[in-house]
Amino acid sequence: MIKSNLDQLISDMHQSALKVLISKVPEGEFDADYRDELEASQEQTMSKWFGLGKELFPPSEMLTSEELNLISDKFEKLWAAYSFYADFPKGLPAKCRYELMREYLNHSCQYRPRGWKQCFTFCDYEPENCPFGREYCPCKDLDTLFDSLHDDSTHLQ
Ligand SMILES: [Zn+2]
Repeated sequence: MIKSNLDQLISDMHQSALKVLISKVPEGEFDADYRDELEASQEQTMSKWFGLGKELFPPSEMLTSEELNLISDKFEKLWAAYSFYADFPKGLPAKCRYELMREYLNHSCQYRPRGWKQCFTFCDYEPENCPFGREYCPCKDLDTLFDSLHDDSTHLQ
């Protein structure tokens, strides 16, 4: 990708992180005012929350591995600024992290002011269809565990 375009995108992501809405309710106990504020907060796409259109984010094929490392790290920081947390398995390649976060620009969700963390897990416990790919699917280990629990020979050892 042309370096100036990438620099521009990263600068736009920084700007977006600075625009995060702050709760009108003072920090403290969960109270009725905050509940009202939450209820008034509509769901909209992440793209809308960020103010960044998906077209600004190039398809992963257009990026070098260094660019993918850089942009996926910046992307996770942008998510964190909005209290969105991506539950990626350890060691998941930058390309996969970037592609998933890019897809999620079209995902509708609520933004919760005051830093209430929202965790996105991606994996639907189907290793074969896992967005992380079978190698990185965390539930594959659960399957193995499940199999071993049901394998009598394991119990007898
Ligand atoms: Zn999975």
